[in-house]
Amino acid sequence: MGPQGCGKGTQGKLLAEALSIPVFGMGDIFRRAAAEPSELGQEIAAYIKRGELVPDKYVIEAIVRALHSNDARAGFVLDGYPRRANQVDELEQLLGEKPLDRVVLLEVPLEEAIQRTGDRLTCSSPQCGEIYSRRNGVSTGDPCSQCGRAVATREDDNESALIQRYEIYQQETVPAIRLFAERGLLTTINGTGDRDSVHQEILNAIHDPFVR
Ligand code: AMP
Repeated sequence: MGPQGCGKGTQGKLLAEALSIPVFGMGDIFRRAAAEPSELGQEIAAYIKRGELVPDKYVIEAIVRALHSNDARAGFVLDGYPRRANQVDELEQLLGEKPLDRVVLLEVPLEEAIQRTGDRLTCSSPQCGEIYSRRNGVSTGDPCSQCGRAVATREDDNESALIQRYEIYQQETVPAIRLFAERGLLTTINGTGDRDSVHQEILNAIHDPFVR
């Protein structure tokens, strides 16, 4: 959990790799759906472009499909879901007797998060979605190191969509995070450190049942 630019996507991928389990990034799932020329794809693309949450009926369908996939049997990392209180309830019902092990909140000051999203570049292939930063010398149009497609600024990393997304984060996602804190599941980690040290802290939190 955490605001746009806190490192959820990057850290989710690293964590999944380290644990050899899949990561289900709800934003990635919807970006792939939005790349389809179908009516549904175009509808989803419009929500993303405006920085609004995709309607729950599509979210529930996507999460059920992900959690029921064979890949998910040994465990999974969720990134970008749940994002509002009703999605927390939904997820709990879906998981039943095998609840979440841990919820990690990456804390980053708003200014830093805004700067990071400004510097963010992503692979233009929705199937890949690798994340880069201009801070590391990567520029628009450079080839993705994973798949070779050009990297570009995400369509919803523009000012008006970002304002909308931060507002939704405060109003809808912060209450969802509070629910996880009340359930004793939340570990808060300072997300401003370098990529590898944040990753190590997340691993420690997951392996140490007493870290909260
Ligand atoms: P992200 O890549 O996590 O920033 O997500 C990009 C966009 O995907 C969001 O702005 C929403 O439009 C949509 N999205 C991602 N996760 C959810 C979710 N849990 N519920 C509804 N919409 C979502």
